[in-house]
Amino acid sequence: MAVNNFVGSPVDQIVFDGNPVFIKRDDLLAPEFSGNKARKLYYLLENDDAHLAKVISYGSPQSNFLYSLSELAKLKQWQCDFYVDHVPRFLMDNPAGNYLRALNNGVNIISINKERATLTIEEYIHRFVLPNEERALFIPEGGSCPLAEQGIKKLAEEIINWAEVEKIDDVKIMLPSGTGTTALYLQKHLSFEVLTCACVGDDEYLEEQFQALSKGNYSHPTILPMQKKYHFGKIYVEFYDIWLSLKKQTGIEFELLYDPLGWLMLQDYVKSYMQSLKDNVNSLSSPSILYIHQGGLLGNETMLSRYRRMKRLDDKKRKD
Ligand SMILES: *Cc1c(COP(=O)(O)O)cnc(C)c1O
Repeated sequence: MAVNNFVGSPVDQIVFDGNPVFIKRDDLLAPEFSGNKARKLYYLLENDDAHLAKVISYGSPQSNFLYSLSELAKLKQWQCDFYVDHVPRFLMDNPAGNYLRALNNGVNIISINKERATLTIEEYIHRFVLPNEERALFIPEGGSCPLAEQGIKKLAEEIINWAEVEKIDDVKIMLPSGTGTTALYLQKHLSFEVLTCACVGDDEYLEEQFQALSKGNYSHPTILPMQKKYHFGKIYVEFYDIWLSLKKQTGIEFELLYDPLGWLMLQDYVKSYMQSLKDNVNSLSSPSILYIHQGGLLGNETMLSRYRRMKRLDDKKRKD
């Protein structure tokens, strides 16, 4: 991992479906440590705590966070214990993507499906794991905690500098949310409006996440309201289609869990913004948009094989 390269990421300008969009390329931060997980772990990366010997977290065995945490632990020579409910059969039989890389980095992936009974994984860790750990740091799922703020603040500063150099006085920032940690801290440190959408859970869940982190002390990002319910981790034809169009039109590969919904929501937003401009003769220009590419491309490996399977089934159905 090229830590010394962690100086910031470039901004590209693309045109997608006729609309110009700036892209903050956090997928290019460092070869093996990209995206918003790198931002969230930045504080730990930059600061040394000799007392620490282990990091403990939990979540999905396919998550981008698991992989990024495993890179950090390897670099720092910490043990990494990552708790999951269970590892799906197909993944155990064919380790791939984030899961495989994390295993190779020496992470202990611990399934507690039976042990935890009715407790959530986090409750289980607090009750049965942490009391016996003296030199461990616990990081909540997806790195959603105040530790994440410092790295995201740096992202905000990069955006402010870029806008200054490019003489852009207003820009809408768009990024899709999981826990909402990245969007929230970005809004905290930016005067530009941050737009986001809820990829995990519904709009109310995301608002609750914002509230839990901000304690109401600063303003929240704007949640673009979801018209249709998408279930996190499921595959949808329109997700694959927009992902492929983006790749073809811009040459940039986005990730497949969050970005398709982010781009679909952004398209709706731009459409209704343009409509409101037409209705209001006083406004003349459409807003500049900066989309944050939050990395996570390793996860595409397992997502793409699921999409290919779906496509094959589709083709077969058409032939039958
Ligand atoms: C983790 C992740 C997100 C969600 O980030 P939050 O801070 O949890 O909202 C979005 N996109 C990608 C690619 C991610 O890896």
